Amino acid sequence: MRYLILSDIHANATALEAALEAAKGRWDKVLCLGDVVGYGPDPNEVIDKVRELGATTIRGNHDKAGSGIANADDFNPVARNVALWTRDKLRAENRVWLEQLPTGPATVDGFSLVHGAHRDEDEYVFAPAQALDGLLDAPSQITFFGHTHLQGGFTLRDNKVGVLHFKPAGDAPFSTLTIEPDTTYLLNPGSVGQPRDGDPRAAFAISDLPHHTVDFWRVPYDVEAVQKRMAAAELPEPLINRLSFGR
Ligand code: ZN
Repeated sequence: MRYLILSDIHANATALEAALEAAKGRWDKVLCLGDVVGYGPDPNEVIDKVRELGATTIRGNHDKAGSGIANADDFNPVARNVALWTRDKLRAENRVWLEQLPTGPATVDGFSLVHGAHRDEDEYVFAPAQALDGLLDAPSQITFFGHTHLQGGFTLRDNKVGVLHFKPAGDAPFSTLTIEPDTTYLLNPGSVGQPRDGDPRAAFAISDLPHHTVDFWRVPYDVEAVQKRMAAAELPEPLINRLSFGR
């Protein structure tokens, strides 16, 4: 079974469309690691699409704040502003869908899905020291996580933590990770709708674990079109600008 793994779409319908177009015909099922909404201008369009895809989805912190099951008090003012805007824009059925998203971890086909970390869905795993606990505690060889918006991940082998970065070679739209035995993996497909690793292209992954591979994709999309919709909706300027830089 090949899985298309999406995370942190953040209400960016144009980036999601570009990702789906590029991934066409290459997957059997879709998984989503949360933060379907927040930051971006298209919460209903993106939820409609994720529902249509029948994606197995766990919730992220922005899904809790956007639906209203968590208050956005621990968000910075910019993120809070958009969480409240999102709540206002959501159609009733989409708000209910968002409210009812399950909390991670989820187990699919022998691997795990979390938004942030195994022990805490809201925890950010940026550095090897933070990854170590998750790698040691992991109930499966492979865990996919999101939340940081950084494509890459961590490995544990012979008690050593390794860091993974992906850069497709030449014109290739993806780079392939080969899954090795005796290694535990924490893998982040990156953010579809608001990348923060310096590459503004939409990020996602496609796993084909029966063949021991995970492909890490980067796909360009029409950033300006999204920025125009954000400006028209009067969403905060720092959020509009950061899409140009992937920061
Ligand atoms: Zn996010």
